[in-house]
Amino acid sequence: MKTIGLIGGMSWESTVPYYQVINETVKEKLGGLHSAQCILYSVDFAEIEACQASGDWDRSAVILGQAAMALEKAGADFIVICTNAMHKVAPQIQAQIHIPILHIAEMTALELEKAGIQTVGLLGTKYTMSQDFYKKVLVDRGIQVLVPPESEMETVNTIIYDELCLGIIKDSSRQTYLRIMGELAARGAQGIIEGCTEIGLLVKQSDTKIPLFDTTLIHARSAALRALED
Ligand code: GLU
Repeated sequence: MKTIGLIGGMSWESTVPYYQVINETVKEKLGGLHSAQCILYSVDFAEIEACQASGDWDRSAVILGQAAMALEKAGADFIVICTNAMHKVAPQIQAQIHIPILHIAEMTALELEKAGIQTVGLLGTKYTMSQDFYKKVLVDRGIQVLVPPESEMETVNTIIYDELCLGIIKDSSRQTYLRIMGELAARGAQGIIEGCTEIGLLVKQSDTKIPLFDTTLIHARSAALRALED
C-alpha cells in the first residue's frame, strides 16, 4: 500500500471526513483490520485565509509547499491537498516536490465523465467559482461549467467562511444552497459539483434529486484507491 500525504486543516472540519472516507475505502477493498497508511500535515487555516483575503497567493504557496516537502520527507508517495480553492497554487506546490499531487478537479472530472455529465453547476469559494484555475480542468475535458450570478456567489462564499469552516450548520443555509442548486439545474446543469470540501457537511445527496458530486468524497476515495494501485 502506498502512503498518502494529506495537507489538511483548510478547514479541519472537512479534513475529518477525508480521514474517515480514506479508511473506509481501504477497509472496503482489503477487509479485516486493514486501514490506510497516511500522514496528515494540518495547517493553521487562519494563516491561509489571511493570504487569500490579501491576495498573497505566493505566501500561501510557500506555506503549503513546506507542508508538501515535509510529507515527502516523511515518506508520502503522493499528495492530497484537502481543499478545492488552494489548488490555485497546486502548480507552485508541485514545483517544490518530487512526488505527484492528486488533483481534486481532475478526480472530479473523471466522476463527471463516468456519469455522462456534459454541463455541470459549480459551487465553491468565490475563488473557485470566479477564477479559471479550477474550471479550466473541467472545460479542457469538454465539460461546460455554470456558476451562480455574482450576488449569489457572495452568498455561497460567505456561508463557507462564516459558517461551514467554523462547524456551523444551519438549515436556512441548506435551503439557500438548495435554491441556488435548483437555479443552476434550471439553466441546464445536469449535476452540481460541491466544489468546496465543506459543502458536503451542509447538503447531502438525500436533500435533493439533482445529482451531487461531493469533492471531499470523490477526492478521498480516489486517494485510497490510488494508494492500493500496484
Ligand atoms: N475547503 C474549501 C475548499 O474546498 C474552502 C477553504 C479554503 O479556502 O481552502 O475550497
